[in-house]
Amino acid sequence: MDAISLGRELSQTLMDGLIVDRGHPEYDKYRRIWNGLADRRPAAIVRARSVDDVRKTVRIAADQGALLAVRCGGHSLPGLSTCDEGIVLDLSLINDVAIDAAAGIADVGGGALLGDLDAAGARAGLVTPAGVVSHTGVAGLTLGGGMGWLSRKFGLTIDNLLGVEVVTADGRLIWASADSEPDLFWGLRGGGGNFGVVTRFRFRMHPLGPIVVGCWTYSALDCEAVLQGFHRLSTYAPRELTTNFAFTSTQLVVTACWSGVPEGAAAAVVPFGSLASPVSGSFGSMAYADLQKRHDELTAWGQRHYSKGGFLGKIDGAAIDCMKEAIASAPTANSDIYVLQLGGAINDVEETATAYSGRSASYYWIANAAWDKPADDTHCIDWGRKAAKSLAAISMQTNYVNEQSDFGKDIVIGAYGAEKYDRLAKLKARYDPANLFRLNQNIEPKT
Ligand code: FAD
Repeated sequence: MDAISLGRELSQTLMDGLIVDRGHPEYDKYRRIWNGLADRRPAAIVRARSVDDVRKTVRIAADQGALLAVRCGGHSLPGLSTCDEGIVLDLSLINDVAIDAAAGIADVGGGALLGDLDAAGARAGLVTPAGVVSHTGVAGLTLGGGMGWLSRKFGLTIDNLLGVEVVTADGRLIWASADSEPDLFWGLRGGGGNFGVVTRFRFRMHPLGPIVVGCWTYSALDCEAVLQGFHRLSTYAPRELTTNFAFTSTQLVVTACWSGVPEGAAAAVVPFGSLASPVSGSFGSMAYADLQKRHDELTAWGQRHYSKGGFLGKIDGAAIDCMKEAIASAPTANSDIYVLQLGGAINDVEETATAYSGRSASYYWIANAAWDKPADDTHCIDWGRKAAKSLAAISMQTNYVNEQSDFGKDIVIGAYGAEKYDRLAKLKARYDPANLFRLNQNIEPKT
């Protein structure tokens, strides 16, 4: 079916949904996603308002053999939440968050952003651990795993997932949890968007008061001392402390976030301010929801990005050399190597308990090229690939599917390891045998 007929078929069937086809005045607005590199032209964007819209769209895509992209926050690095010619199923209007404070539970729509969850949580004094940028989508982040400031204390986002309402490839609406469709629930916790369209997540929440954050900027010339000191201090950190750094060609920004009792904050955080002589620094108490928005502008929509990550056990001399060498040829001032400390509660869960793979890692790194002009695409992508390749050589075998600008079977098998991939492939054959949901880090069905 051609793009015009597909748009017409969607409009006739989806009475409550909003169809943005190529003739729509806001087509260009709604076809965009976060990464400016992903400039695609779908036949139509369905702005679903209800579970029923989602089910009808899935059925039409399956019946017509149309390419189907599923979008929540639009932050897919390789641009897998959009497509050329096919349908984009945009869930951003299904973004409600309902909190039962007494039970410590949040029900979150499949199109909500982290900022929606954080803001509703803040009103109740509760949090669910997620990522570090508030305009990221809950759905894409959660389905891959979800790591951020509170993962060492409360676990990955999937470790706080109690259940998922999902529309499968045959249009059924299923509830998956530890007691209902447990195999599917296992796969949804790390297997990405391979098994269906999630319309609602149910999360466990935790009480959290103000946190304490220290942030210091060092000259890149001091990187050796700063990174050695960072590793020394972070290695024995309690799980209430999470640290990260962003290393660019000119500077190293080190941040430490304390989520324990206020009296313990200074002793845990302040030492990160004297790893060398900082150029500037800050230390103080803040609301968690504010920390979550701190990098929103720095990571605004529209710039071109190529990012690739991996898991490290330690930041030893080899890792420091690798990072120094990579950053020395960074293509732009805001291209960086970012490292987030992991461990703690992430490690409390068995590696086999969820599809997510890499729980024993102490750190997660990302080599991120960021630039503006299409003419720089090749140069910047080449840098990102090269930097990531050299860091991958000293990293763990498994990887995080959510932070990979490249995709393909080798990457996906590598991310999960052969044994888990095999289990995921059999699960995929049960729930999506025709591979309708293939615009993702794709798991091919295996019978
Ligand atoms: P989308 O592009 O909307 O979706 C990505 C994929 O998820 C889609 O291709 C689809 O397969 C699937 N999907 C989306 N919605 C649904 C749904 N409702 N049902 C089923 N499948 C769906 N990750 C972290 O863990 N921690 C971080 O701190 C973090 N920070 C980030 C900051 C930025 C600026 C960016 C760009 C990424 C970050 N990430 C982080 C990675 C992030 O987890 C992935 O990019 C994730 O895919 C984003 O989810 P999304 O909903 O915004 O993306």
